[in-house]
Amino acid sequence: MRRRRFVIGASLSLTAPPAWAQDKPVRFSVTGAMEQGSLALGSAPPGSQVALDGRPLHVLPDGRFAFGFAPDQTAAALVTVRYPDGAGDSRSFTPTVRQYEIQRVNGLPQNTVTPPPEVKARIAREAEEIFLARVRDTGGSDFLSGFDWPAPGIESGVFGSQRIDNGVPVSPHYGVDMAAPVGTPIHAPADGTVSLSADHYLNGGFTLLDHGQGVSTSYLHQSKRLVKAGDAVRRGQLIGHIGQTGRATGPHLHWAMNWFQVKLDPSRSTRKPKPDPL
Ligand SMILES: [Zn+2]
Repeated sequence: MRRRRFVIGASLSLTAPPAWAQDKPVRFSVTGAMEQGSLALGSAPPGSQVALDGRPLHVLPDGRFAFGFAPDQTAAALVTVRYPDGAGDSRSFTPTVRQYEIQRVNGLPQNTVTPPPEVKARIAREAEEIFLARVRDTGGSDFLSGFDWPAPGIESGVFGSQRIDNGVPVSPHYGVDMAAPVGTPIHAPADGTVSLSADHYLNGGFTLLDHGQGVSTSYLHQSKRLVKAGDAVRRGQLIGHIGQTGRATGPHLHWAMNWFQVKLDPSRSTRKPKPDPL
């Protein structure tokens, strides 16, 4: 951990702090799993300005903020805070490196592993829709109270694994798979707003929830979607049913989390143990 102070009180008097006091802890904190692909939550004095690697972050009135570590990030994230009194601190946070698995998945519909040319434009359009939904920078605070598991199920796929689908290496698996029968209810893991709800070629029945400050979660392969773009949802609300639509070998929920375009492991932001499979 590096620590720098860039503003030190200008008034030197008999009450000036002794030299050792300059080593005192910074006046902000960052918590979370602090590993690759995890959401980090920060807290600074109310009224502070915060930057991540020089880019300003949204800060709630109470001083709290969020950012994410990329799945392959090895560089430190530099958090700089300017306090309301004009002083400031900065500190870098290096994510713990994770070892990701290799997962071979066979039996996928071949037209979802190597999609026919005529659906390429549709896939690109749907990917762009999702990209744009994740660009949105709403100042909400729904991410603050943590996330519940959205459905029961057997965890059949973990975050970050290198995927080899029907023998073809594809992009890593950025989500948690929960296998459960078709029709198993999916509940919102936290309050949020529906940014996108649509039937996609690869994702199947797809819903994206915005939880504020770039934090979003998404739900893939649903047999039924029960909310639409613009809806406000409450923690625990039924939002859809588990299915086997899109690129899937069996009924399961693919649950993903993002900080803007940074892919995160939602299992690292849950506040309770996973429910037992049905
Ligand atoms: Zn998945």
